[in-house]
Amino acid sequence: MILPIVAYGDPVLKKKATDITNDYPNLQDLLANMFETMYNAYGVGLAAPQIGLPIRLFVIDTTPFSEDEDLSEAEQKALVGFKRVFINAKIIEESGDEWAFNEGCLSIPDVREDVFRKPNIVIEYLDENFQPQKESFDGLVARVIQHEYDHIDGVLFTDKLSSLKKKLIKGRLTNISKGKINVDYRMRFPDQKKKR
Ligand SMILES: [Zn+2]
Repeated sequence: MILPIVAYGDPVLKKKATDITNDYPNLQDLLANMFETMYNAYGVGLAAPQIGLPIRLFVIDTTPFSEDEDLSEAEQKALVGFKRVFINAKIIEESGDEWAFNEGCLSIPDVREDVFRKPNIVIEYLDENFQPQKESFDGLVARVIQHEYDHIDGVLFTDKLSSLKKKLIKGRLTNISKGKINVDYRMRFPDQKKKR
């Protein structure tokens, strides 16, 4: 089932999300719905707060990024079929020199800006079967994980921009929260006037 994606301005996107336990109701259905919702919107990652749930859960499939012809063969290979569920994730290490990448977000349609992040991460998490995992990632895979991880901490990529950039996009963000935007997937806007 395709779920509505919560738009910029909804308080759930600003909340620090909480861990879940393995008796979380209908988790497998939720995961299937999150993947379906993400694919329908042509996203590479989706965090639970983006569908209105303040829990520490996100899903990723970086396959669409692999078609970028500017990437090396090794980078493309790392992205194909990288499909994961991250539950109660904790980034325990971030290292390397920060690099810029033009990020976007399904909750903030049509806004893309360069964001600086460190290239290497070590992350601990539970997979979809609640098995503990500890892995290192780099490049674009790490980038997508860092973006989604920020969501479960209540942080958006727009929070990481310079104050000048923030000022420049403020009007567009306000429009998004009011639903004054054309978007071809299902969304829920916090400040939309009720239609009658
Ligand atoms: Zn996002």
